[in-house]
Amino acid sequence: MIKERQLFFANQAQTSDFPLALEIVKAEGVYLYDSNGEKYIDLISGIAVSNVGHRHPKVVEAIKNQVDQYMHLMVYGEYIQSPQALLANAISETLDKKLDNVFFTNSGTEAIEGAMKLAKKYTGRLNFTSCYKAYHGSTQGSLSLGDEQFKRNFRPLLSNIDKIAFGNFDDIKNISCRTAAVVIECIAAEGGVIIPEKTYIQAVRERCDFVGALMIVDEIQTGFGRTGKFWAHQHFDIVPDILTTAKGMGGGMPIGAFISSHKIMSVFKENPILGHITTFGGHPVCSAASLATLEVLLEGDLIEKANEKGELFKKLLIHPKIKAIRGIGLMLALEFENFEILKEIINKAILKGVITDWFLYCDNSMRIAPPLTINENEIRHACQIILECMN
Ligand code: PMP
Repeated sequence: MIKERQLFFANQAQTSDFPLALEIVKAEGVYLYDSNGEKYIDLISGIAVSNVGHRHPKVVEAIKNQVDQYMHLMVYGEYIQSPQALLANAISETLDKKLDNVFFTNSGTEAIEGAMKLAKKYTGRLNFTSCYKAYHGSTQGSLSLGDEQFKRNFRPLLSNIDKIAFGNFDDIKNISCRTAAVVIECIAAEGGVIIPEKTYIQAVRERCDFVGALMIVDEIQTGFGRTGKFWAHQHFDIVPDILTTAKGMGGGMPIGAFISSHKIMSVFKENPILGHITTFGGHPVCSAASLATLEVLLEGDLIEKANEKGELFKKLLIHPKIKAIRGIGLMLALEFENFEILKEIINKAILKGVITDWFLYCDNSMRIAPPLTINENEIRHACQIILECMN
């Protein structure tokens, strides 16, 4: 009989020649289970998605309830669909009152695309500023914001992109009165969890105000509690003009959003009418899952505890091979001498049931971003295995 493994390689498009190819048959909490009965502790949350753990019972219940009511009804923005309206309101309540208008998407990159279009239309400007070593997505607008290695063979892309070095105060002056928006993360995720000075993010905010550019803050990876606050920008005491989110937002279901003020968002309504539309954005089942996720995060102490748990990782992961450990909340990077050393440790750890990874723009550092539901024993166990793999 043909096995799924063969079908995966025969019929499913591949993104590299070395996929992990674990065959997972079930997931629950912080654990994944494969077809051989092996159990893995997931220290990467499907890349910053499963913040409330895999198949959180409240998320599963919300999905089932919504499926019993309705699934897709109509393209986004036409009918009043309770899960969307309630979610938009609940998200707004987590944010400064200026950010009271939510446009739902299916993914992170779509949130960035929408945010970029919005900034162009609102400001009437053409240029964007983004940071080196930042990943904002793989579609042609978001890709344009990225670095040369990923763009090289996909031109033409958007041409008016000014690049600045993340954390570099001098570069901020390149944000000019031609800039429609700066697209920036408060914590550089794929750059390897780089945490800038608080005054850096504040200086970007001030420069945007000074030149009349919008500040688009990408919280696709950092949102929904990952960094020990609901949103990472809340560590920096700034308010973005547009915020993008996805990943952890859906509790395991695909959904994203870009969020702004009524005033800015209203430019999509005319000239042309329907200036930005989507069929599935904010799918009711995904919205219901997202609302349940948000409630789980706000009602419990998962976000508060993320800091303590992150500190425990930092305390336990001490070894001569670890050159540095960066992190905030449960978003951590363990730096090694080089990729080869790191890759060997990652491979060994998977064989011992611990899943980690590296970063797109930082291949000497191990990604550790487990579900926020991970408990102390699980952290101790995972760290012990990682340390064993270094010896
Ligand atoms: N922005 C950031 C910061 C991300 O980490 C990602 C995904 N890794 C994206 C945007 C794109 O999100 P998606 O994969 O959902 O399109």
